[in-house]
Amino acid sequence: MSLSFDPDTIPLPVGHFIGGELISAEGAIEMCRPSDGKAYAACPVAGVDMVSCAVESAKAALKSSNWGSVRPRERTKALQVWADLIETEAETLARIEALCSTRPIGQLIAGDIAVTAEQIRFFAEFADKEGSELVPTDDASLGMIMSEPYGVVGAITPWNFPISMAGWKLGPALAAGNAVVLKPSEMTPFSAVYMAQLAVRAGLPAGLINVVLGDGPTTGTALTGHPEIAKVSFTGSTRAGSAIMENVARTGVKPMTLELGGKSPQIVFADADLEKSATAIAGSVTFNAGQACVAGTRLIVERSVADRLTAAILQKMKAARPGPTWEEATQYSPVISERQRARIDGIVQAAIKVGGECLTGGHTMDSPGYFYEPTLIANVDQANPAIVEEIFGPVLTVQTFQTEEEALALSSHPTYGLASGLFTADLSRAIRFVRKLEAGTVWVNRYSRSRDHILPTGGYKRSGIGKDLGREAYLANRRTKSVLISL
Ligand code: NAD
Repeated sequence: MSLSFDPDTIPLPVGHFIGGELISAEGAIEMCRPSDGKAYAACPVAGVDMVSCAVESAKAALKSSNWGSVRPRERTKALQVWADLIETEAETLARIEALCSTRPIGQLIAGDIAVTAEQIRFFAEFADKEGSELVPTDDASLGMIMSEPYGVVGAITPWNFPISMAGWKLGPALAAGNAVVLKPSEMTPFSAVYMAQLAVRAGLPAGLINVVLGDGPTTGTALTGHPEIAKVSFTGSTRAGSAIMENVARTGVKPMTLELGGKSPQIVFADADLEKSATAIAGSVTFNAGQACVAGTRLIVERSVADRLTAAILQKMKAARPGPTWEEATQYSPVISERQRARIDGIVQAAIKVGGECLTGGHTMDSPGYFYEPTLIANVDQANPAIVEEIFGPVLTVQTFQTEEEALALSSHPTYGLASGLFTADLSRAIRFVRKLEAGTVWVNRYSRSRDHILPTGGYKRSGIGKDLGREAYLANRRTKSVLISL
């Protein structure tokens, strides 16, 4: 059966989700479908009162359900039921996502949604396996490091992978015994609302997950500055991450996990499997039209193979089939908004103006919606805007090197250190580079996440603080109390 659907027929859960209820509110931000530019809804903006109401609801749910202090296995079981229901309702969830965001329907059910359900199960399994521990002391004492949840976690997510990002925040926070107030991006909030509705249907306490809709300056600021939010978990731009740090510092002190921007290099040596490298590199900038924090947007290739590799990448970049996100055959996404498309084009034209040579693309696509051509720019130095800026679009730059030292110098970015790719057949060189690269993730002879959720993700430099995924993400949602008992 075809997954394609008519976007005009899909009901959307438009409203805040608080205490297990969908609360409709007047829409304030016009929302347009990225695939055809048609206005389809208006996003409400929660103010201080609505955010407080969500925080109170989370506190009440924690109290009445004892979520943070029940036998941990009960949390594991409850979250597994939710993960199962997410998969059972995958088609409905996928349609909401494909309608509103840049994610094509054909990639959602077996991709974003299946992986999110699996990650929720992964975190659920930590609940009864990580906890308090006795520590060695003298015989007259008993020492203990007691592990406890924070209480109410405030989570904020971006628009590029709305379901996945909601899962990254909700899974570990809930497994660790917290309640959550989530503010998804104002551009793609409805899949998160539907996931929260599914949680209640799956039997999780109403109020354990609350979703407030709105923008950063109003709703985001109210959430991160709320005195009863015990921890902030944020994914988004470095700019917004800085604003959140300022707001948290101004309104109180609380721990923060910040997953921020990137400008990741992919370094290819002449001994690499060039065909495999080209597939990985082209895929990383065309997948979701380059709107991924870890997109490998800076190709750094050994000069002797640069022409061959570039030709192979060019061919593969053009092969991804564009189309509306509600058509199953679509492989190549639009960008999220007209504003984002204009920003991408602005950086591309600025890059060309200072000497960049556009080998393909460099234009908006002549079709409905916000499509931008896959773009490859050569002849760029370290000061070129296409090297400096996180473009967050389908734009790859190419630079060449002759020595390892040159490759390493080009790969370093003054601001970001999120991910790096390395392609070589020489294992010793790979390890040498892995040790030197300043990045939170290094992929060798591949450029993509695996389904090994135990690998944490997060940035070096200004790409962030702390980790999502992995054991670290679970532990970041617990705090420890040292106890020393005199016997
Ligand atoms: P953004 O920073 O503009 O917005 C992200 C979220 O933060 C949205 O929900 C927004 O409403 C909110 N926000 C904005 N300003 C805020 C403020 N002052 N206070 C509180 N909340 C605020 O980012 P975006 O355009 O939605 O997403 C793209 C960015 O996200 C890119 O920089 C990308 O690299 C980053 N990202 C990082 C990761 C990662 O794991 N490191 C993953 C996905 C996306």
